Order: sequence, then structure tokens, then C-alpha cells
Amino acid sequence: MFDVTAIGELLIDFTPAGASAAGDPLFAQKPGGAPANVLAANSRLGGRNAFIGKVGNDGFGDFLRGMLEKLRIDVSGLCTDPEIPTTLAFVQLGRNGERSFSFYRKPGADLMLRDSEIKSSLISGCHILHFGSVSLTGEPSRSATLSAVKSARKAGRIVSYDPNYRPLLWEDAGTAKRQMAAGLKLADIVKVSEEEMTLLTGETDLEKGSAALARFGASLIFVSLGAGGAFYRSGDRCASLPAYDVKTIDTNGAGDAFLGAALFRLRGKTLEEIRSLKDAELKDILLFANAAGALATTKNGAIPAMPSLEEIRSCMETVPFLPRG
Ligand code: ADP
Repeated sequence: MFDVTAIGELLIDFTPAGASAAGDPLFAQKPGGAPANVLAANSRLGGRNAFIGKVGNDGFGDFLRGMLEKLRIDVSGLCTDPEIPTTLAFVQLGRNGERSFSFYRKPGADLMLRDSEIKSSLISGCHILHFGSVSLTGEPSRSATLSAVKSARKAGRIVSYDPNYRPLLWEDAGTAKRQMAAGLKLADIVKVSEEEMTLLTGETDLEKGSAALARFGASLIFVSLGAGGAFYRSGDRCASLPAYDVKTIDTNGAGDAFLGAALFRLRGKTLEEIRSLKDAELKDILLFANAAGALATTKNGAIPAMPSLEEIRSCMETVPFLPRG
């Protein structure tokens, strides 16, 4: 049995890495893709995980497969497209340090995952199936993802969803909202940022926005608030908990660390047990996830920054909270 099987995009992020002696801009080759980051966080804590997705038949695909293997994530569901190359994204810094992204994904292998290629034992054999919205941006990966999620539900598996909003990957905001909402109807556990909550519900208020999200059907909702900490809703009950005051250098991957850690705390629990978690336990889970998110901001990159259980425990015991804004 796997604690979490994740389905979705796996790609290379090329991030700015200074310049060569000749003055040419250099880029560092980093693994990217939120569902894999969530597994990396969960696996670092001791979770047993599997990944379903697609890379190209190229050096970048080999690099990504090797990276997941090193994290002890099962890659028997990672397909290789014979023709379409591994998806790439380049991050560039403007004159004032602002980031801009260029995606090389039309086509890109991650979008080419087909329903018929999904290894069903990774779904029937998992406790939680996790997905995001980047694999919903186009076909055939949209149908493949939704079909995997529906089979997981039929098999009585718990479904976790993080509708990451990446405007550049969608035709327009209306399509993004519609497709991201389609995912909401299939999820038991949902994690959104405040911006994503507002996009999906039109609400800026956490209680109202999370209630609107819950109406799609999820039992447990997390809203991550960056340095503001996080908020949860379970049925009628909700609360927000502060963030830890750490030395933040790179917030990339904090949301995935948060969710990977929260799912780790929910491992082995039935949906009924998750629904009936007491407030004190939910608060403890949220603080655990906040600590994971905070620690992930203290190192560069996403996957290398995922904290261990000891680091999270020590953060919860020794690091003070940030004042609430
Ligand atoms: P996302 O990347 O999904 O937008 P957030 O940036 O909200 O996610 O980060 C996830 C969690 O990580 C937050 O809920 C918070 O607990 C923690 N976190 C993020 N940024 C900081 C920060 N600057 N200081 C402390 N904790 C942070």
C-alpha cells in the first residue's frame, strides 16, 4: 500500500544562476511540478509514495526519474513519451528582480499522459490519491487525471486536490476557473492559497470562502496564507493558526511542503476519522504543516528544502510565531 499516489506534471524548472565568465546568462536545472513536490515532502517524513505522470525520452526525463527514485518514490507509473520532449519552464529575472516564466509545453510530455497508460494498481493500492490543476490545463492529461481521480473515488480512496493557479498555462481565467472547479467536486481534502480561494469562490473572507469551497463537497479544507500562517475548515468548524518566525530566503515549494506534511499526519485515517478529528488535533496538524512550510522557505529550491520530522518537531517547540498581520 502507498500512503500517497500523486498524478500530474513533472518538468524541469530552469532558474537563473548568474552568468558565465563570458557574461552569458546561466540557468540551473531543477526538478519541478507541484504533485511531485508534495510527494517529496511526504516521503522525507517517512511516507510511502508513488508518482503517475509522463516525461520525454531524453536526458531531462532520465534526470527526473532518477530524482524521484532517489527520494524513494515509486516510478513504475512514470511513462516515457517516445516523441514529445520533457516539459521545460524557464524563470527569468527582470531588471527589478521580478520573475517571468516561459513554458516549453506546446507540446510537452507531461500533457501527453493518457488514461490507458495509468497503472491501476497505483490507484487501488494507495490510501490517498493527490492531484493538482496543471494536469487539467489540456488534453489528454486532463481526461487521464479526472479518470484516475474517479477510479480512486470508486475504490473508496481519499482524494486530495491542490488547484494551483498558473495563469500562463490556461487559455483564460474563465476556463481556468471552470476546470479548477471541476476538480473541486471530486476532492475530499482541498488545499488552496488565499488567491486561489478568491478566484474559485469570489470571496475574500476566509470563513465565507472556505464555506463556499466546502459546498463543492470536500470534508477538509486548508487555506495557506504565507507569512500569515494557515486556516482550516472541517464541516462547520474553522480556525486559523499563525506562521513560524523563520529566516525566509525562498518561498518556492512552501505550499507543497505544507500539504505533504498535512497528508503525512492524515496517513492511515479513514474519511470518517478525518471528518471527526477533534479541533485540538486539527490545530496540531495545521501547526505541523505550518512548520513544514516555514522550514521549506529557509533553503533554496523546493525538493532539497523539504524538512525532516525532527526539524519540524524542533521548529514547533522552539521557534516563536510571527505576529499576525
Ligand atoms: P503556496 O506556495 O501554496 O502559496 P504559502 O506561501 O501560503 O503556500 O506557504 C505554505 C505555508 O508555509 C504557509 O501556510 C505558512 O505556514 C508557511 N510559510 C510560507 N511563507 C512563510 C514565511 N515567509 N514565513 C513563515 N512561514 C511561511
